[in-house]
Amino acid sequence: MKNITILGSTGSIGESTLDVVSQHPDAYNVIALTANASVDKMLMQVNRYKPDFVVMADEQAAERISTILLAKGCTEITVLSGVDGLQHVASLDAVDYVMAAIVGAAGLLPSLAAAKAGKRVLLANKEALVMSGHLFMQDIKRYGAELLPIDSEHNAIFQCMPHDLGSSLSLHGVERILLTASGGPFLNKSINELGAVTPDQACSHPNWSMGRKISVDSATMMNKGLEVIEAHWLFNAAPDKIQVVIHPQSVIHSMVQYRDGSVLAQMGNPDMRTPIAHAMAWPQRISSGVAELDLFDVAHLNFQRPDFNRFPCLRLAYEALKSGGTSCAILNAANEIAVESFLNETISFPMIPIVIESVLTELNSVDASSLEVILAADHSARELAKEAIASIR
Ligand code: NAD
Ligand code: MG
Repeated sequence: MKNITILGSTGSIGESTLDVVSQHPDAYNVIALTANASVDKMLMQVNRYKPDFVVMADEQAAERISTILLAKGCTEITVLSGVDGLQHVASLDAVDYVMAAIVGAAGLLPSLAAAKAGKRVLLANKEALVMSGHLFMQDIKRYGAELLPIDSEHNAIFQCMPHDLGSSLSLHGVERILLTASGGPFLNKSINELGAVTPDQACSHPNWSMGRKISVDSATMMNKGLEVIEAHWLFNAAPDKIQVVIHPQSVIHSMVQYRDGSVLAQMGNPDMRTPIAHAMAWPQRISSGVAELDLFDVAHLNFQRPDFNRFPCLRLAYEALKSGGTSCAILNAANEIAVESFLNETISFPMIPIVIESVLTELNSVDASSLEVILAADHSARELAKEAIASIR
């Protein structure tokens, strides 16, 4: 029996994780569930999964849950709040696995706490690696933690790689990583058409159902940019060893190309329960509830080159990765602010990369030597992005 904490249990990845857990009640036990502020959803999950701990990042939400549980006479569940509460349940002695599925920079400290406590970290929160890849990978090693990628592409690459994350790729005969991308809902839209797209259009992904932030990232292709950075840290791959390949069907989740001409691919229906079940059971395999892939149904697999002109976010991410230091933390923070402003209809879709690029140009990258430096860069980038947005309105 493995005890699991699910950070971000009310989100898209969190719910898929609970779905896999509920298919294997004898193998996994939920110790803690966490969310930001969605009280009703959390109460439903608490009823069903009976965790020992509930953490709400939002203090008022935590108070409401606490009051409701007490009124029901339920005293055996501990309710905590804030980042401290999240870090606490990510590092409990009783916990074996931590699903890191908070969205954005808010996931960094809790994910790091799981690494520092030597847990198996099931990492969906790619922003944590983008912001502080060096420190994160260092902590995983130093504290004897295990890092299993949940992002479907990185989980696929992991499955197609020799299983010692972080060692030299060329030593294993790896030529390059082929990181597939669906291209998102706007793959075939012209630059002119992109000017008028709405948040709802951006959030209707053709193949995947996800939270709103990552859905917009997929539409701008910043998601793929963040994933290039994520792959760099996970697999110790230089930027020019990571090739983005547009593959609209999302059946191949990524590939690894070897020196002898072999290309290994991991395929499956686009459903996050596959990488989640893979990482939870690794090195074993368990059922996930995902339908078998029917290749006759798929019939065609297509590939094309990414277009850096229509999707400048991808270029910005490669540039930030090459420039190093705090550039990727700055890129991530500016992106979070720009996406939020697009979602609440303050800026248009094409303004997202413009805001990010202006912040990257204005803010100097420094050596990402400590968490404090990274969090300071994150803070400054957010402020500058807000100023940039205010100035264009
Ligand atoms: P989501 O928006 O559906 O869920 C986010 C979760 O984080 C929710 O439980 C929410 O309550 C919690 N949360 C939000 N803000 C918080 C804060 N400030 N403090 C604490 N908790 C907070 O997002 P998602 O689609 O599940 O994505 C989660 C992460 O997984 C992201 O980093 C995303 O990039 C990554 N990911 C998602 C998918 C997918 O298919 N959804 C695929 C690959 C990677
Ligand atoms: Mg992905």
